[in-house]
Amino acid sequence: MQKNQITQLFGIEIPIIQAGMIWASGWRLASAVSNAGGLGIIGSGSMYPAVLEEHIQKCKLNTNKPFAVNLPMLYPDIDKHIQTIIEHRVPIVFTSAGNPKTYTSTLKEHGIKVVHVVSSSKFALKAQDAGCDAVVAEGFEAGGHNGREETTSMVLIPAVCEAVQIPVIAAGGIATGKQMLAAMILGASGVQMGSRFIASEEASSHINFKKLVLETKEGDTQLSLKNLTPVRLIKNEFFEMVKEAEEKGSTKETLEILLGKGRAKKGMFEGDLEEGELEIGQASCLIKKIMPAAEIVEEVWNEYLTAKENLIS
Ligand code: NDP
Repeated sequence: MQKNQITQLFGIEIPIIQAGMIWASGWRLASAVSNAGGLGIIGSGSMYPAVLEEHIQKCKLNTNKPFAVNLPMLYPDIDKHIQTIIEHRVPIVFTSAGNPKTYTSTLKEHGIKVVHVVSSSKFALKAQDAGCDAVVAEGFEAGGHNGREETTSMVLIPAVCEAVQIPVIAAGGIATGKQMLAAMILGASGVQMGSRFIASEEASSHINFKKLVLETKEGDTQLSLKNLTPVRLIKNEFFEMVKEAEEKGSTKETLEILLGKGRAKKGMFEGDLEEGELEIGQASCLIKKIMPAAEIVEEVWNEYLTAKENLIS
């Protein structure tokens, strides 16, 4: 058992956290990661309120260990999600893509631990002021929604660690135990990985998407939709369409129409690799195999311990 600020805060054994990812992280993945000693997270951004309720119930049936729900604040029915989380006594919530002031106190009044995802020291301080128990410092390498300032994990992690007193979880570009060690040396007390867990057997994302993730090389992902909501994507037909529109100076409205509704579902859940939105981080180029989530946790943890040992000797 590794005792540090993060394992103690969450009551887990290993400071490895699986990111909440739309269309990929339901109860199967979250409970598998929690059962392996890390912290599993249900990604609620793609779930209707009744679907989230079902996933929380199934997660509880499949693990006795702590798990969390990720709540992207852009979610249209957010109040219903908050109600479900409180009613079902979810122990931990990771909020993202919004102001931490809005919901932190309500969640904390119900005994829920709150962690907010940030892309700068300024936002980390805001999260600390809002009463968050920890922050995730997520660098530019990360998949999905991303900060506009493009601060990479190598710079962001030490900057956030210096700025706040609450524990820091490092994210963005981390997929291996050696990278985990680097993040811990920079001051983090735990790591959050998304892309690595997309390539897991339990992720609910489409097999076409999982296989494509294994094929990506350096440079195959890029930040897109910077004038709307910045998001890191695999460069496919849809990405090129957006790029062309952005280069032409298209308005936000035109980009919104081009994006349409359900692009992420189309790509990541239905497996349309050309027309769909494929959110993944730069670390995808380091991932070689689809594995059970428990083996991913074990492999990353063992690699971390070995790398730490080698560093000392
Ligand atoms: P869209 O508006 O394009 O699509 C919404 C999708 O979510 C639809 O496919 C819909 O499913 C489903 N959905 C679930 N609940 C609702 C609801 N109450 N109202 C409408 N649709 C709902 O959005 P995106 O797919 O781009 O993003 C969805 C959510 O995920 C947002 O809240 C966003 O903030 C979050 N997100 C988070 C990311 C991250 O990195 N953390 C990255 C990208 C998105 P159906 O088609 O079955 O109706």
